Amino acid sequence: MGLMEFFGRLFKKKTGASGAEAQGPGKELVCADCKSTFIFEEGEQHFYKMRGLTPPKRCPNCRSKRKHRRR
Ligand SMILES: [Zn+2]
Repeated sequence: MGLMEFFGRLFKKKTGASGAEAQGPGKELVCADCKSTFIFEEGEQHFYKMRGLTPPKRCPNCRSKRKHRRR
């Protein structure tokens, strides 16, 4: 085999690997309060990033509970 074939293989390997783990539908996070897992969805991630916020530590359930408790 020639040198070109060798480089061709290298390239194929690289492009194949980088495309695999780009983005999923959502991130699975663990709630700090009830320890249950919840999905931090792609759209939400985008929203948090745009506002410069850190990802939520609690599930939507616990978050709304906290809000309601406030007086
Ligand atoms: Zn929770």
